[in-house]
Amino acid sequence: MLRPLRSILPMALLLLASLAPPPVAAEWLSREEAIMGTAIRVELWAEDKAAGAAAIDAVMDEMRRIDVLMSPYKPDSELSRVNRDAAAKPVRIGRELYDLIALSLDYSKKTGGAFDITFSSVGYLYDYRRGIRPSEADIAANLDAIDYRHLELDPKTRSIRFARPGVRIDLGGIAKGYAVDAGIAILKKRGFHDALVSAGGDSRMLGDHRGRPWVIGIRNPRGDAKSMVAALPLTNEAISTSGDYERYFEADGVRYHHIINPRTGKSAGALISATVIGPDATTTDALSTSVFVLGPKAGMALIESLPGIEAVIVMPDGRMEYSAGLKRP
Ligand code: AMP
Ligand code: MG
Repeated sequence: MLRPLRSILPMALLLLASLAPPPVAAEWLSREEAIMGTAIRVELWAEDKAAGAAAIDAVMDEMRRIDVLMSPYKPDSELSRVNRDAAAKPVRIGRELYDLIALSLDYSKKTGGAFDITFSSVGYLYDYRRGIRPSEADIAANLDAIDYRHLELDPKTRSIRFARPGVRIDLGGIAKGYAVDAGIAILKKRGFHDALVSAGGDSRMLGDHRGRPWVIGIRNPRGDAKSMVAALPLTNEAISTSGDYERYFEADGVRYHHIINPRTGKSAGALISATVIGPDATTTDALSTSVFVLGPKAGMALIESLPGIEAVIVMPDGRMEYSAGLKRP
């Protein structure tokens, strides 16, 4: 997980605060909760402690709301209803889920199918916690069901249909970023200027850290949670990291992890970590998963083609590469 390294309040600001009458009891508030199968963290600069705490409550509630809508593990979620029924008939869904599926399809087209929410047609056969994986025969039998072109969206009825049986969708590669953006929107609306919301490897910062940039560390893919390979100063931006260490097990010397190459139905192996920086977390989340699957060449080519987007990748041998915008002084 990414962790901001706290910067120190500039002395001048402390002095000003002590001279200004009446004294303002502003402070940093932060909280972490386990939601969406990951750690949700909110940090904000609050002029009023009660208003700050209420805003953090509202962000956590929003995360739970989105989880109830989009979790593939909750049988009552709207997404689970789609997976159950959409091969038999068109399923009407809410605008939020519809729009996020439509956006996912845009990323599938942009990435030549590297980002594909139907990866789950095979992906659901893996259980990383229990060390379970599909046999070659299971993969072969289900591989044809992975293809975003099997998804038929009808904007008029706002419904989705699967063109063939065996198709499943899972928004795990984009939903956390979407939830982070929804959390930031709540904080903005409530008038907060300096804040951070993160969900596992996806973070977005509002403003800065009281006059200094936020500093976000990129985790060492082969170190413990505190070991970093880079630290990036960021203001008003989002950052997502996809890594093969988040959910995995090892068998016969192979690491089976949660990011699936849609062409093979197996874990993507060309990178061990992909970090993307951009204006919002929905974008950086979708792109970090995409770059991870595309690998160093095609992944970096995609990033260089997108204005305002940067990336840092880590190769299996530990070598790192930065996109052009990060190399400029
Ligand atoms: P992230 O950490 O954002 O890269 O997300 C990883 C999650 O994305 C996985 O746990 C899956 O739910 C989902 N995922 C895995 N492979 C793909 C893929 N090829 N395209 C889209 N989503 C994927
Ligand atoms: Mg992602």
